[in-house]
Parts: sequence; C-alpha cells; structure tokens
Amino acid sequence: MAGIQYEGGCFCGAVRYAMTRPPLFTHCCHCFDCQKQSGGAFAINALIEATHLPLTQGAPVAIAMKTDSGRPHDITRCAQCQTALWSDYGRRGYLLFLRVSTLDAPHAIAPDAHIFTRSKVPWVALDGALPPGSATAKPALVCEVYYDMKSVWPAESLARRDTASAAAKR
Ligand SMILES: [Zn+2]
Ligand SMILES: [Zn+2]
Repeated sequence: MAGIQYEGGCFCGAVRYAMTRPPLFTHCCHCFDCQKQSGGAFAINALIEATHLPLTQGAPVAIAMKTDSGRPHDITRCAQCQTALWSDYGRRGYLLFLRVSTLDAPHAIAPDAHIFTRSKVPWVALDGALPPGSATAKPALVCEVYYDMKSVWPAESLARRDTASAAAKR
C-alpha cells in the first residue's frame, strides 16, 4: 500500500490497519472516561483522516459509548479480543482518534497536547520535554481541559482537516 507511515492492529492479530499519513495532531487524554475505558492513566489518540487509516485485515465492530455531552462516541474494537483500536467522536466519519498504543511501533508518535489534565492521575508528571515525533515539534501543550484548535494546530493539519470535512459533506 502506497504511503504507509505506520501499521498496527489489535492484541489477537485478527484486525490490522495501516496509517498512510502522519497524524494531524495527537492527544494524551487524561479525562475520566478515557481512564475508565482504557483501564489506564490516559489514552493516547492520534487524530487522522479516516481515508488515511485503511483496514488491511479483519472486521472490527463499532460500539456506542455513553457521554456526558450526549454527543455520540463510537469505539471500534476487534470483535474477537475487544482491543479498542480507534474512536469516532461525534460520529463524524471522516476523522478518527487512533489509539497510538495499538501501533506496531507504539512509541513512534508522541503527544502534541495533554488534555483534561484536571483529572490526570497525580503521579503522572508532565515535564514539558520535547517529545520526538510530535506534529508541532514543540513541547506538548498541557491543558486543564482543551485548547483552541485554530491557534494550536499546524496550518497543514488544519488544511487537511478542512479537506476531509468538505469531502465528507459531498
Ligand atoms: Zn483482536
Ligand atoms: Zn478522554
């Protein structure tokens, strides 16, 4: 497959995917929902156009999650081992939040921003170090809640997001 940047899959190996572009932006999300749903201290989500996350093997299933906001949130999981592979927040279809830890090289992508740090576990220290592989090439932003996308994302990522959104409306 042309343009493969990364490959990954679920724990049992039934589902495999490719990622054919670097992510638009990557979050470490420290919200309580991510902690509960992952069983960990945070979720690492790389935002990527759905068209650049082709499935290469298997048939994962989307499971609807309850949210405080009432907006839809589907988590796509392997039907066999139930590994969470990516989320579609708002059921937009064109933008997916890939769980970075499911990559074959899970440390290849570093977060550009830590979000919802108001609920982070107290023993995770955010030292402002420059993570290798971040889209912004700046120390990851640390946000109590969220940030203003238009002033934070690289121009190229904003343009890619607009293109994906416009294509989805067609
Ligand atoms: Zn599996
Ligand atoms: Zn979260």
